Amino acid sequence: MSYQKVKGTQDFYNVEAKKFRYIEKEIRQVIANYGFEEVITPIFENTDVFVRTSGDTSDIVTKEMYTFLDKGDRSLTLRPEGTASIARCFLENKLYATPGIKKYFYFGPMFRYERPQAGRYREFNQFGVEIYGESSPYLDCEVILSAYKVFNNLGIKKIKLKINTIGDFESRKQYAIALQNYFKNHLDELCDDCKNRYTKNPMRILDCKVDSKKEVLVNAPKISDFLTIEAKEYFKNVIDTLKYLNIPYEIDPNLVRGLDYYTDTVFEFIIDDDNEFKGLAICAGGRYADMIKNFGGPDIPGVGYAFGVERVMNIMTSENLFPSLNNDLDVLIISLDDESKIAALKLADELRDEGMYVEMDYKNNSLKPQFKLADRLNPQYIIIIGESERQTNTYTVKDVQNKQEIKIAKEKIINFIKEKK
Ligand code: AMP
Repeated sequence: MSYQKVKGTQDFYNVEAKKFRYIEKEIRQVIANYGFEEVITPIFENTDVFVRTSGDTSDIVTKEMYTFLDKGDRSLTLRPEGTASIARCFLENKLYATPGIKKYFYFGPMFRYERPQAGRYREFNQFGVEIYGESSPYLDCEVILSAYKVFNNLGIKKIKLKINTIGDFESRKQYAIALQNYFKNHLDELCDDCKNRYTKNPMRILDCKVDSKKEVLVNAPKISDFLTIEAKEYFKNVIDTLKYLNIPYEIDPNLVRGLDYYTDTVFEFIIDDDNEFKGLAICAGGRYADMIKNFGGPDIPGVGYAFGVERVMNIMTSENLFPSLNNDLDVLIISLDDESKIAALKLADELRDEGMYVEMDYKNNSLKPQFKLADRLNPQYIIIIGESERQTNTYTVKDVQNKQEIKIAKEKIINFIKEKK
């Protein structure tokens, strides 16, 4: 076979495609009650959109973007995340012009040139929310709660919220200085990327995928010692509210987020079950005070999160959390000559209009292969149409489960099956 899918991408077919859509449907149901409105943005954007918002030292921007020149020499990038695109859309369309906070959600594919491994793909789907307009610990908690509810609704109950604050800008400034002083004497213990982060953005070192377990990181100064009174108060309110809402959490002083725009609350949901997924991050988010301002827009704070649909799907499959996703066949129509096939097609159409799933045989006129088909498809009802049925205008209907068979006038068949169902 000469054609193969690109490394790090996946095909979803049969039950896998149904699982994907099931997750999407459940998410949409939960999220509707929070008032999130969907935003659908293009799959690619001008590269600057991501460089401006994510920051030019982030892993995403420096290593992971699918960036290309189009035929007009424009630098375009397949979106690696949703937040930047939604912010661009919010500004470009002046969605801030009407009063009130704005709650948005998105669902769709993202692209990152990462090393593919279990739960890490180059094309993957994210569901995410963004709220603009207010800076409030209660709003942060509502956002967290909405993710928690989505997971619970999908049956993923053994999860833990890891949460931290990275403070306001003043706290971060002091902390960055402290981190530089600390890492100055440990540079040879850090990976090359972190050596670079040391000068440009030392907080990023704490978020390094390579160094994260090293003692030098574990022992690094903690942001909690550098928080301003306001930042401390804000975080205390978040934690008190989480307690009240009964959301299990753990404060992780080393949790920082890989993107430049975060301030104050940052969080992750991880799997807290004794299985192969233990510790796996399924959702990440936080607050950002000035992303919109940095982007050239008004001074509007935001908060949001994103989670990976494929990871959720893998966990749900492994833990048997999907309901039966079979599309059970209501009716199979067996037809015994060409004219009966046309009658079958017409009847199938009428039954489908009534919301029933109907199949028929398009090729065979004899009974044997059609009953074989019935064995394979396992319909609830079989309708048989042959020459004599057509002439008398009465079709044979078999109730497969109850092993009953009756002849019914053609025009009464739809109501008969509808009532039975
Ligand atoms: P991030 O946008 O990096 O904060 O990631 C948010 C969530 O998206 C993670 O917790 C994962 O569930 C998911 N995710 C991120 N990168 C990938 C990837 N390469 N493949 C699959 N899921 C991913």
